[in-house]
Amino acid sequence: MEARKIAVEKAMEEIKKRIKEKEIRMQISEEGAVAFILPADVDRSRMTDGCIYRRLVRENSWEFRNMVAEAEARTGRRVNIATVNNGTHSHDGGVTWGRH
Ligand SMILES: [Zn+2]
Repeated sequence: MEARKIAVEKAMEEIKKRIKEKEIRMQISEEGAVAFILPADVDRSRMTDGCIYRRLVRENSWEFRNMVAEAEARTGRRVNIATVNNGTHSHDGGVTWGRH
C-alpha cells in the first residue's frame, strides 16, 4: 500500500518537473476532457489522465496553469472539470474520446 503511494508520488514529481520543462502538452476534447501527451520515458504509474489532472489542479502551480492556457489557446477549447470527472478519456493522445 505504502509502496504504491510512493510510486504515485514519484510519478507525479516527474510529471511536474517535465511540465516545468515544457515537455508535456495536453489535448482537450470538444466537451472539455483532457489527455496528456507524455514523453516516452515518463512513467505515469498507471494513473489516468483524469487522476493526473485532478492532482495537478489541487496544487494549481503556475507551470500547470500555463500548460492549460497553452492547450486551451492551441485547441480553441476549454477544460471542463465535469467532463474530466465523468470519465471521458482518450487512449490515442486526444484523437478519439470515450467513456467505456
Ligand atoms: Zn479507456
